[in-house]
Amino acid sequence: MKLRPGLQTQFLLVVAAGLLVVVALIGLQLHRQHRVQVEVEGISREAMQAMASDSLQRRGEGMVVQLADSLANPLYYFDLDEIGGLARSTLRQPGIRYVIVFDRKGNILHDGNEEIPSYGQRMDDPQAYEAINARSLHTQVDDATMDVSAPIMIGQQRIGGVRVGYDLVAMRGYRELALSDLRSRLSELGRRNLFWVGLLGAGLLALGAGVLWLVQRSLVQPIRQLADSARAIEVGRFDTPLPTSDRSDELGDLMRAFTRMRDSVARHDRDIRRMAYTDALTGLANRLAFRDALDQRLLRLRGAGRQLALLFADVDDFKRINDTLGHDAGDEVLLQFAHRIRAAVERLGGEDAMLARFGGDEFVILVEADASTGDVRGIATRLAEALVEELGAPLMVHDRQVFLGTSIGITLFPEDAVSATSLMKNGDIAMYQAKVADKNCFRFYSRAMDQAVERRVHLEQELRGAWDRGELSLAYQPFYRLSDGLLVGAEALLRWKHPEQGVIAPSVFIDVAEQSGLIETIGPQVLRAACVDAMRWQQLRGGAEPLFVSVNVSPRQLRNGDLPQVVTDCLRDSGLAPKHLHIELTETAVIGDEAHASRLLNRLRASGVKVWLDDFGTGFSGLSHLRRVPVDGVKIDRSFVADILRDPDDLALTTAIIAMAHSLGITVVAEGVENEGQYDILRERNCDLAQGYWLGHPLPVEEFLDLLRPESMPV
Ligand code: C2E
Ligand code: MG
Ligand code: MG
Repeated sequence: MKLRPGLQTQFLLVVAAGLLVVVALIGLQLHRQHRVQVEVEGISREAMQAMASDSLQRRGEGMVVQLADSLANPLYYFDLDEIGGLARSTLRQPGIRYVIVFDRKGNILHDGNEEIPSYGQRMDDPQAYEAINARSLHTQVDDATMDVSAPIMIGQQRIGGVRVGYDLVAMRGYRELALSDLRSRLSELGRRNLFWVGLLGAGLLALGAGVLWLVQRSLVQPIRQLADSARAIEVGRFDTPLPTSDRSDELGDLMRAFTRMRDSVARHDRDIRRMAYTDALTGLANRLAFRDALDQRLLRLRGAGRQLALLFADVDDFKRINDTLGHDAGDEVLLQFAHRIRAAVERLGGEDAMLARFGGDEFVILVEADASTGDVRGIATRLAEALVEELGAPLMVHDRQVFLGTSIGITLFPEDAVSATSLMKNGDIAMYQAKVADKNCFRFYSRAMDQAVERRVHLEQELRGAWDRGELSLAYQPFYRLSDGLLVGAEALLRWKHPEQGVIAPSVFIDVAEQSGLIETIGPQVLRAACVDAMRWQQLRGGAEPLFVSVNVSPRQLRNGDLPQVVTDCLRDSGLAPKHLHIELTETAVIGDEAHASRLLNRLRASGVKVWLDDFGTGFSGLSHLRRVPVDGVKIDRSFVADILRDPDDLALTTAIIAMAHSLGITVVAEGVENEGQYDILRERNCDLAQGYWLGHPLPVEEFLDLLRPESMPV
């Protein structure tokens, strides 16, 4: 890690450097002071020395001149007492080591002592010669003594001399005493100086520490806090407390600006998150949010003994709404669905439930339960039942009643899978199976479904091109008129003779064709073949009443819009009269956008083609629907016919349908007639046509042709 000097360290370094300079200056100053002290002492010593020896010499010379004068008479008269008195009084004076009075030749006459032991002796000390021969006042200095001599004169005649020795050692002692006094005063002065300098240093140190503290408190600390907050914001933690400040300086401004910036970043972050995690249309969680939540829950639930169920709800035939009523209506439908689902989830899903829209018409619900206390399968079942029922209720969209169903796939954690990806895949598969099964129902995922999906994908691949390979063919199931029992027509039913699996019924593959869009190519081929076959029947029957052929058309073909054109082309190419072609449409193909359907149907009918509503009664359109959709006939669904003898309700409904249809001039066809009783009662109730295994199974075209021969008699 690279060492980074912080602001505080930098300030510390600057202050330390400043203090170091101050200390160095103080040191220098003390050094100078010491030098000055030494110099002052030296100069003082020299000055004192010069001054002392000067004054000593002048005092000595004055005194010796006076002494020589005073000695002139006594020496002349050789009055030793007088000489001795003068010498002694001189010797008694301080700082005088000796007094010597000598004669002309240099012999000692008196030395101030009582006994004069050296009397008469010649002076032989090193300074004696100069003293004896000096013609005037003469001073000689050696280490210990200052020797001042003067001749004693009578008139112009020199009669002797006098020498006085001054003690220089003592004088030096006095001087040293004075110097040591000076030294002690100087060092006292130095000490006082040192104290003040020390005080100054301490003051500077305190000032430095104070500045450092101030910098730390008012600059470093807030900046550090800001830096910490910035780091927290960087990683998305917007709730870390920020240093609040009522400071009015620039830093206060910065902190306030920083707080505002943090708030605004947090707001943006929230908005972006909300946008990224919610579905704009319904306000529900979206796929991303759901996936996140699921991952987190799975992580939390692993080993916690809790169970999850995922419900994948897909609106049946939602695309039809968009295609026929427009996208506004589609959005409206989704909103109403979302509303209903939310209500159901709140009621039945438990408190941990979560609802999301996966885009398009797919909603996903997550419910959770404790393995020991709750039953997640039960919750999911109840919720799915409620959803199927409530979402199946009619919706009002743009003043129209719309009937839609929902297919729900359910998968369980941990039973079916433990990973989010697998659970989502399973849910999708189960939902798909619900759609394949019946639509408007729910299915729990099972492992067998995986294979079913695989088979389905396989089937789709094989169905592609099956017509061209000659594997697809038509079977014809006859219609009989109930009033006279005559064969009047036949329904074309598609069959697939698979090279390995044999004959496959449309209930198995039509849905695959529908979902994959293959029906849009197969449908017109069926229509063309049926028209061609029907033409052959007419030719075969000669003058007998021509048979009509009815062809099933998928909702997708109707939505496609080019059905009238395809029909016209087929009729023209085959030469079949339009009135001998019937188109069978399921109710679901026309519900939703009746206006669009009506336009197309009217065009078909205008050309003479008849339009029948297939499986009538199974949808939600009800009888009133018949007034709005222009059809020529309805085929009562075989589920009603099946129970017509046992269930009075079914009989009542069938009777009502017949009466109602007849009042509108609509033909009624009963499908799925499997026994004579059904046949009789339908005839009794004035049903027009009938179809069913009891009357005739769907037959390959060649076998059907046999039916047409004159010998095959009606029932
Ligand atoms: P659908 O139009 O209602 O056809 C009648 C179905 O009822 C046929 O099943 C027929 O075999 C069956 N059926 C007839 N009489 C009886 C009876 O007495 N009892 C019982 N239980 N069933 C009877 P199939 O052939 O399996 O066709 C199923 C559906 O597939 C048809 O229902 C139709 O909607 C669709 N379909 C068949 N061929 C085509 C086609 O070429 N194009 C389109 N779009 N759909 C087709
Ligand atoms: Mg049919
Ligand atoms: Mg039918």
